[in-house]
Amino acid sequence: MTRPSAGGRIEVICGCMFSGKTEELIRRMRQVQIARQSCRVFTPRLDTRYSSSHVASHSGRRLEAVPVSSIKEVIAGAEGLQVIAIDELHFLEDRPEEIVAGCQDLADRGLRVLVAGLDQNYRAEPFPAIAQLMALAEQVDKLYAICVRCGAYATRSQRLIDGRAAPANAPTIVVGDLDLYEARCRACYEAAV
Ligand SMILES: [Zn+2]
Repeated sequence: MTRPSAGGRIEVICGCMFSGKTEELIRRMRQVQIARQSCRVFTPRLDTRYSSSHVASHSGRRLEAVPVSSIKEVIAGAEGLQVIAIDELHFLEDRPEEIVAGCQDLADRGLRVLVAGLDQNYRAEPFPAIAQLMALAEQVDKLYAICVRCGAYATRSQRLIDGRAAPANAPTIVVGDLDLYEARCRACYEAAV
């Protein structure tokens, strides 16, 4: 039998907006369900774009999920399971060290831990929890979108206000979709000022 690792592991699925992170998370969790492994998907309560009891990709695929406010709730809800997934990790409000310690603890206990989230905020700065997990994970997949300006691979999430780059002093987290964000490449990304 081939297995990616003997015990627990952390897998990070990251990238910019519209890169298909949730789609990939759903794909992996469907395989887990087909294999009848015990599993649960968690989604931060802050993400209110879609139904709170599901994770849904932009393309409309859905998976049942437990809404949580903190990594503590994830740990409590992971008792006895083989696989857990956290979508939109950047929305968890705990300190990055707590999120990382929580994921490490679960993997050390033998769980397969899938996390999906933005690697950069709209200012093109790393989200600390995801950045640290990328270093600690057994597997990292950085997905790309396509730049709406030039068609190159996009790695950055451009937040727009009335068609212009949002200012650098705006809140880091603003929930939005195509109304607020565009995927852009390095060359087409406009820095927040
Ligand atoms: Zn571009």
